[in-house]
Amino acid sequence: MPQKVIVVGAGPVGSLAALYAAVRGHNVEVYELRPDIREPSTAPLNFSKSINLALAERGINSLREAGLSDLADAVLSETIPMHGRMIHLKKNGEHVRQPQIYDARGRSLLAMDRTELNITLLDYLEAMPNVQIFFHHKLVGADFREKIAWFENRTRSIEEQGDEVEMSFDLMIGADGAHSAVRYHLMKFVPMSFQQEYIDKLWCQFHVPSTPEGEFRIPPNYLHIWPQDESLFIALPNLDNTFTATLFLTRDGFEKLDASGKVVEYFAEKFPGVVPDLISEDELHEQYTTNQHLPLISIKCSPYHYGDAGVIVGDAAHAMVPFYGQGMNAGLEDVRVLFEFLDKYPKSRSKALKEYTKERTPDAHTINDLALGNYSEMASDVKKPLYLLRKWIEEKLYLYIPSAGWATQYSRVTFSNMRYSEVQRASQRQASILNGFVGFALVSAVGSSLWFARSGGIQQAKMGILRSVCWIAQRSQKLVQLVQGRVE
Ligand code: FAD
Repeated sequence: MPQKVIVVGAGPVGSLAALYAAVRGHNVEVYELRPDIREPSTAPLNFSKSINLALAERGINSLREAGLSDLADAVLSETIPMHGRMIHLKKNGEHVRQPQIYDARGRSLLAMDRTELNITLLDYLEAMPNVQIFFHHKLVGADFREKIAWFENRTRSIEEQGDEVEMSFDLMIGADGAHSAVRYHLMKFVPMSFQQEYIDKLWCQFHVPSTPEGEFRIPPNYLHIWPQDESLFIALPNLDNTFTATLFLTRDGFEKLDASGKVVEYFAEKFPGVVPDLISEDELHEQYTTNQHLPLISIKCSPYHYGDAGVIVGDAAHAMVPFYGQGMNAGLEDVRVLFEFLDKYPKSRSKALKEYTKERTPDAHTINDLALGNYSEMASDVKKPLYLLRKWIEEKLYLYIPSAGWATQYSRVTFSNMRYSEVQRASQRQASILNGFVGFALVSAVGSSLWFARSGGIQQAKMGILRSVCWIAQRSQKLVQLVQGRVE
């Protein structure tokens, strides 16, 4: 039976949730605080949030599963594949670029403009006869027992403002972002554990124009990274041959730059090839000063629902730091998983929502943690030989022994739909096997070399090393068998 579903927030996650509900024949009302982003007078989704982002398998899969045959293709047509990272380093005073592909089997991340994604979803929503969208409407209250919500209608005149519109609903889906009002009101009805953390990094966005000939200034099919440990500069391509770049730096680092005003000098020292090749000195200064320096929040909470009346998804449920590029992807995946449970229990929405919370909580908490940990991979590890060696070994195992089920954590997170909690378990199993094997091999190599050296001198020691290498090669076969037995 059609139900009245209210979706709060018409960002990417709320818009997709509304589409999933509409496809199932429900009467859907979407309430969005901001004006319609498609109106020409409306400024682009402002610079207070990232305007381009990386779309990955989980997001694409959730678009595919929406039940609208051409939706995913419409979105994909506006993306640019990024086959890997391009690491920019300074070596002996020279600017060095090192490409690192993302996936041994050639799968890519997709760069896309978040506003364009949002517009596509809104266009599809508007075409559904059973959907109404109310812009300029802010949720200000909700009673989940009575299933009534109150919205402030911001389109009215100043005198009328403050008037609230009262709406009833069967189900409210809260997709109203990190500072969710739905979550706030839900907490009054359900004992919700809640944890939020502002990390010690701020971010500031920069625009990299195309060349005077209208070309990209650096190769477009990469996510460009300038890793500098305490700071990180990244750039993602846009369809108009520009890049959107982001500086991540500690609060203290920003304060020092603010005080010294030496932004250009800082970039010249830390991020080779940026000034003046990508951004002129004046532009860099201007953008650094004008564009906001914004905090990064990480939120965990649970449960996500109350009875059969309300549920939160996307950033409202699990805002995360952007270092795994999964925030929106995870939010879109929430929608797919939520509706799978609603479809599975058509006669008991409370059971569906309960099961949703049960399954999704460990997954969302896991990706929040992985995202926090991934800063060091992006800003430091990508430069380290040990990281590259491990990546190489894992990719070779993944490529040449597919039956072993070996894969890097990155590829499982980014290119699969495996539950995040399972990704973490599989990665930990792999790490323990690999670490054990490498550790044992090294100890054996050093031990046997020392033994040979003591008993027969340098020549014998060399023989020892050679024998150890042979031993490692033989045991590699054993490793493969071990993996096949232990990793599904
Ligand atoms: P939002 O996009 O925040 O949308 C919430 C909507 O709710 C807004 O339109 C808001 O106006 C509305 N709203 C708020 N309050 C109310 C109210 N009271 N009443 C009515 N409406 C309301 N994710 C990725 O997957 N890949 C990336 O590469 C990536 N890069 C990122 C880079 C940066 C620097 C940052 C900060 C984030 C990045 N993310 C990325 C995360 C991604 O931007 C978010 O996870 C995603 O936008 C969340 O979507 P959402 O729809 O849940 O929330």
